[in-house]
Amino acid sequence: MSDLVDSLLSFIEVSPTPYHCARTAAGRLDAAGFTEIAATESIPPGAGSYYRIDGGSIIAWSHGGSANRFTVLGAHTDSPNLRIRVNADIQSAGWNQLGVEVYGGVLLNSWLDRELGLAGRVTYADGTILFHDNRPLLRIPQLAIHLDRKIRENGLKLDPQAHLNPVWSLEGDTGSFLGYLAEQTGLPVDSILAWDVMAFDTQKPVRFGRNGDMIAAARIDNQLSSFAATEAITQIQHDPIGESREAIAVLALFDHEEVGSQSSTGAAGAALPNVLERIGASAGWDRTTYLEALSRSYVVSADCAHATHPNYVDRHEPDHRIAINSGVVVKRNANQRYASDALSETPFRMACAAADVPVQTYVHRNDLPCGSTIGPATAAELGVRTVDVGAPQLAMHSIREMCGVEDVGHLTKALASVLRIA
Ligand code: ZN
Repeated sequence: MSDLVDSLLSFIEVSPTPYHCARTAAGRLDAAGFTEIAATESIPPGAGSYYRIDGGSIIAWSHGGSANRFTVLGAHTDSPNLRIRVNADIQSAGWNQLGVEVYGGVLLNSWLDRELGLAGRVTYADGTILFHDNRPLLRIPQLAIHLDRKIRENGLKLDPQAHLNPVWSLEGDTGSFLGYLAEQTGLPVDSILAWDVMAFDTQKPVRFGRNGDMIAAARIDNQLSSFAATEAITQIQHDPIGESREAIAVLALFDHEEVGSQSSTGAAGAALPNVLERIGASAGWDRTTYLEALSRSYVVSADCAHATHPNYVDRHEPDHRIAINSGVVVKRNANQRYASDALSETPFRMACAAADVPVQTYVHRNDLPCGSTIGPATAAELGVRTVDVGAPQLAMHSIREMCGVEDVGHLTKALASVLRIA
């Protein structure tokens, strides 16, 4: 267990952006014997384990050679954060600052008074360079209470346009953001064509609590599930039954879930169906055989679930309490904000029972709008039975979230069991 948790903590630490997360997953697949193939390359026929990576998304598959369906583990690589605007350099009152844009549903207060690093990707005529600068570079200082006397009555009110630009140097520093990117990538300034750069918290992931049985880290939503799904597909590589498995095991980690999944690398796009159809074609399937395989297939969408918060018990459905370190969570929503239903939940519960993993069930309150996941998008795109599951956490969408040590093992075991028996 402790090895698995350490492995998760290092996965998160080296994955400050979706692009890094996809590359981190790829590194773990490489170590387990998977081979990278470019999107433009043909998929080799017969048995084999491959992946293709596209920016912040990665799709991997392990084909035993005689499969007639797919079992897909899906998750997302992106997390809400602050991203650097294109015209980044701004000045105010003698400070040099970077202009930021809010990505997804950020808990904005959690980004204040933290030392932030920068990471992202930079393009030039011959390709793309990823960089990860872990130094404390930026800070968004909160206004002193003496200058905001109403904060006690009104709470903190942040204007995302006016109050979020971090400071990064003092008057007199004439270096530009583009110059910084040139330093980070080794590229001449005038050869940089475009970039996607985001801020992240430089504080490392840790275990905490009286008994060390909880985890505090950035991006638990949803790098915990990305990690567990990657771990699950690499674990089954070593199974003796690997060659006779009837389902092609698929790992699909998508970008852009936090902004609705509608993109070329998102779950609502054509990336996954295109790859699945090409895998089928490489096995000699025609279109009808592929569609028949989809009708036998199964998707598990893994994304974090809300544990019951001790200070806000009234925000939770009272008959569906979720506890940390008490098992993986099946998420149900009658309005299909989660894809689960009785039929899709059943194989997952059987897989958990086979692996001795406890299961909890989450239902959102009727009087609060429910969040969503990649589950409904994937289910609609493929027409495949899909269940939404995940590990419980608190502080979802904070810069620093928390979850339970035991649930890392619960989720990983459950997902590996799905690949073995579903
Ligand atoms: Zn999520």
